[in-house]
Amino acid sequence: MEDSGFFGKWGGAYIPEILHETFEQLKISYRKAKEDPKFWQEYLNIMSTYSCRPTPLTFAENLTRHFGGAQIYIKREDLNHTGAHKANNVMGQGLLVKRMGKKRVIAETGAGQHGMATATMAAKFGLECTVYMGEVDVQRQRPNVFWMEKMGATVIPVKDGSRTLKDAINEAFRDWVTNVDTTHYVLGTACGPAPFPEMVSWFQSIIGAEARKQILTQHGKTPERVYACVGGGSNAMGIFQGFLDNSDIELVGVEAGGKGLDSGKHASRLCGTDASPGVAQGYKTMFLQNDDGQMLETHSVAAGLDYVGVSPILSDLAEKKKVRFEAATDDEVMQALDLTMRLEGIIPALESAHAFVQAFKEAPHLNPDAAIIINQSGRGDKDIFTIAHAFDDPSWKEFIIARGKEYDK
Ligand SMILES: *Cc1c(COP(=O)(O)O)cnc(C)c1O
Repeated sequence: MEDSGFFGKWGGAYIPEILHETFEQLKISYRKAKEDPKFWQEYLNIMSTYSCRPTPLTFAENLTRHFGGAQIYIKREDLNHTGAHKANNVMGQGLLVKRMGKKRVIAETGAGQHGMATATMAAKFGLECTVYMGEVDVQRQRPNVFWMEKMGATVIPVKDGSRTLKDAINEAFRDWVTNVDTTHYVLGTACGPAPFPEMVSWFQSIIGAEARKQILTQHGKTPERVYACVGGGSNAMGIFQGFLDNSDIELVGVEAGGKGLDSGKHASRLCGTDASPGVAQGYKTMFLQNDDGQMLETHSVAAGLDYVGVSPILSDLAEKKKVRFEAATDDEVMQALDLTMRLEGIIPALESAHAFVQAFKEAPHLNPDAAIIINQSGRGDKDIFTIAHAFDDPSWKEFIIARGKEYDK
């Protein structure tokens, strides 16, 4: 990154005057932490004792046999505390907050996963925590709201706009402007104004650093391709950074194709033709927006991929053709999930299953000597309501109805 916070023509920091000093302070703390080997040591220490780092790299031998092409390896970010790579980012920012001496954190959340992760971090580090969540999402994601509150966080339902993620982000910024002195905004992905895209990517780079070492040990050479799903882009940036320096390794980002790229019901910004360059929420990237710059409604079966913008770093890598972007539809995702559960006993999150879809399409055409890595960003347990509904499981339906009746008594 140049100090301006731009990656090619993408990124920057379009922030209100009142936040300038806070951003300066954050940039300085981040730079200092990055130059201080003790900081990374402290980070590794907390991630190996509070979360589950290093996470394993699993050889998926049954899937490999099934497809009969490249050897399929899965990087297991699902085994992190709270079940996804999000722990890497929040624990890293938590350590920075302690260094900055702030006492309160705020976060935005869509599906509730980032809110959950932030609430655990705040409980662990003794910080006050407020989570902004669209009112619609609060209704859809009650289990996560329940746990956040139990861990001591205040969850505020946002009633503006479409009452989903982008509105929660706007509200979090409003809070930050009011409480700059005491509060740090724990942004959840590699988006937003600089230094967030670079900083979040740095914390997530632990995925790629581990995966690189592991594949060299387990497979004896670097992989041919690496797949990751792309919501805001943080898990993808995390694993890609381990392999970006090798121009012979193909990096593949998989976006939410929803009901199809032609349907208008998807969240594909770098793949397809519905997105265009814009500046919103403090940074410049490819946004799903109309000609007036109004954000469009997005759709994905995976709540974590359902966002109008994308990391400016990925917009840059897309333009420079260093990462190839594809899209997986909701239906394809359910099929990949089904197969992975049956053949490997692993339940990928709906988000992660997007990466599996594309890997499964390509694996049969690759040489059996080659390895590919799929980044499993999270575990699917959280998605049981959506998955059981999509499989139209009759016993599950009975169970839900019976539980509802218990409460009616
Ligand atoms: C939040 C989430 C994502 C999307 O976020 P990125 O910043 O694109 O990584 C992907 N997978 C899981 C499991 C998530 O919880």
